[in-house]
Amino acid sequence: MIEDKKFNRLVIAAYRLPFKFIKSKSGVRAVQNTGGLVSAILSLSENMKNRFFDKDNKIVWTGIANNLPGDFSLADFKNEHFNIVNVKLSPKLNDLFYGGFSNDLLWPLFHYFSSYSVFNNFYLEAYEEANNLFCEEIIKITKPGDYIWIHDYHLMLLPKMIREKIPDAVIGFFLHIPFPSFEIFRLLPRRWRNEIIDGMLGADLIGFHTHDYAQHFIKSVKRTTGYDCHQNIIYTTSNVVKADAFPIGIDYEKYHAACTSKTVLSEKQKTVNNLAGRKLIFSVDRLDYSKGLLLRLRGYETFLERYPEWRSKVVFNMVVVPSRDKIDKYREMKKEIESTVGRINGKYGSLVWMPIIYQYKSLSFNELIALYDTSDVGLITPLRDGMNLVAKEYVACQVENKGVLILSEMTGAAAELNEALIINPVDNVEMAEAINNALEMGTAEKETRIERMQNRIANYNVFTWAFDFFNRTYDTKKQQNLLNMKFINKDIYAQIASKYQHAKKRIIFLDYDGTLVSFHKYPEFANVDKDTINIIQRLSHDQRNHIVIISGRGVDFLDRQFQDIEINMVAEHGLYIKRSGKKWESTVKSDIRWKERVKPILMEYVNRCNGTFIEEKNGSLAWHYRNADMDFAQLRLNELKDELAEIIRYKTDLEILEGNKVLEVKSGKYDKGQAAKVFMTNEQYDFIMAAGDDKTDEFLFQALPESAFTIKVGLSPSYARYNVSDRTQLLQLLENLI
Ligand code: UDP
Repeated sequence: MIEDKKFNRLVIAAYRLPFKFIKSKSGVRAVQNTGGLVSAILSLSENMKNRFFDKDNKIVWTGIANNLPGDFSLADFKNEHFNIVNVKLSPKLNDLFYGGFSNDLLWPLFHYFSSYSVFNNFYLEAYEEANNLFCEEIIKITKPGDYIWIHDYHLMLLPKMIREKIPDAVIGFFLHIPFPSFEIFRLLPRRWRNEIIDGMLGADLIGFHTHDYAQHFIKSVKRTTGYDCHQNIIYTTSNVVKADAFPIGIDYEKYHAACTSKTVLSEKQKTVNNLAGRKLIFSVDRLDYSKGLLLRLRGYETFLERYPEWRSKVVFNMVVVPSRDKIDKYREMKKEIESTVGRINGKYGSLVWMPIIYQYKSLSFNELIALYDTSDVGLITPLRDGMNLVAKEYVACQVENKGVLILSEMTGAAAELNEALIINPVDNVEMAEAINNALEMGTAEKETRIERMQNRIANYNVFTWAFDFFNRTYDTKKQQNLLNMKFINKDIYAQIASKYQHAKKRIIFLDYDGTLVSFHKYPEFANVDKDTINIIQRLSHDQRNHIVIISGRGVDFLDRQFQDIEINMVAEHGLYIKRSGKKWESTVKSDIRWKERVKPILMEYVNRCNGTFIEEKNGSLAWHYRNADMDFAQLRLNELKDELAEIIRYKTDLEILEGNKVLEVKSGKYDKGQAAKVFMTNEQYDFIMAAGDDKTDEFLFQALPESAFTIKVGLSPSYARYNVSDRTQLLQLLENLI
């Protein structure tokens, strides 16, 4: 556990503000907006200040106030928990950003309704502009030590925008909808998806409702950026970002306790009287195609058809909360729902019994709680839902009358609520059977199922969720700070420079790929550029300097790249050494008969994994998979390692060397570390430096004395003393030393 009060204020950025402002006779009233996030943060605001934030500071909430009464200014709004900052968007911009990019593109796409997605360049421009307006407001109000918590799919570009303006800001991002698999995400034009991924990676911590969504995101990061990802950590060129699952919870106690409040008890009594002994099935959702409303009606109809004994003994109360019903698609869906309800009621209903009570309206909190507790079955069957808070609220509210939750496997909540009857929402027969099972379930089983789920959601409630998120952000920050200490800052540079200037005899080891040159799709085209050659030339003109290019490349390739420079070189990870002005020599006698056995195996893996290829060197064979699908290649890599292990077991001098997206089989008698030692033996260097980006350079870093300035190019874990974020920074450093 971390100590209390880690941050100054909580600054939230979300599309919606927590309140609607409505004009009434007594002035303007603030009414709480519906929706998961708003209820979560509202209940949170009273409980979390003492834990993480300065208690005298209110939560700052940045969002968009739609339809403010004309003469009302938000500056006049006083609230004990919140300071509200309004981001002003013109109605046209709002239409394109919110109605367009967010709801006509991202919402359907991320909910797997890709055919509903509208791809429009104006939408993207509006999305960028609106995110930028949020950024401007946040920059104005943010103070050092604030925690900026950005929410949801409307603001995916915002983390990066803020990071560019405030590099050391603490930024959390939480996505409240699913993150789809890469096959869906890649439907976005390449530039758009890169922009979204880069935008999100501006945060320190990125949260999702489920492990699956986090994994989908990480896969998309790998596919769009090629960044190194280890478990849930992403190493970008400038930061270490964590992506993880934080299933949002509810304020369990609030819902649970409300079931026995006076108002709710009287509401419940009214419902019980109206039911006249019938069983009650209940559902409540916003009007949206992702909620599977028509399929739910189909499932209920199948139930009435297949289980006639339940007719007239059960009522399905289907509440649909108005949402976006000015839009054609939603209006049509509403019409279709209403006509289906009419048809089913017409078909099965009678003078004294209506199978479905359909309501198109919002419920008050007390009405909602009463219905949760009175109902015998909660029928929650979305086709896709990031989490679904209604399911959790339903469970929390089983107090007087223990009901059964029927839950779609396509909701995030299904990952936690395993004791629900889990169904596939498109399978009407399975849904009908589940309704029948739920109605017939014995009391003891119902109680056991509900209690188990209640324990879980009472423990991981909305507060635990937020605290967990803040804690993990703090941990990520600590991890970054450790890395920052290793980043070559001004002070460290000054130390290096001073040691360099005073040294009489220096040696500098420089790796080739990823250090002096960028990666290329095909290794043979990764040529060193003129500027880099120039730096190396100037370095080696200084009589005190001994420069060693230390590479896994073959002799001929290195000769071609550095033909005009008198320089020391190491090829094939230390198999060959060339001292400046002399000829290449091999360091060990290498028996390469093993290649006859290994090559056919590697060939087989080239065929089994598209995009991979073999590079043959004198003393080794390398299987490159940089151009393959990374996850698939990883699978094949593990298989290949298993297969090679069999050979290596009997050929003990062979070893498998894993580099950056390459597996190499070579003799274990030499490595970069040992090659470096050849240069160091019998010599007294008073300045030693080594830079490399790859796992193979770790041998080098470990072999050098502690006083050496070892530099890892990139951010992933290393034995090196220092890091630079990329090769340009390293070249800049060398240039400065000269
Ligand atoms: N809700 C509400 N008024 C209503 C019906 C529902 O405020 O008339 C709340 C409900 O209690 C829940 C939220 O709206 O907290 C719906 O969240 P959910 O995750 O189930 O679905 P979303 O609408 O966010 O897709």
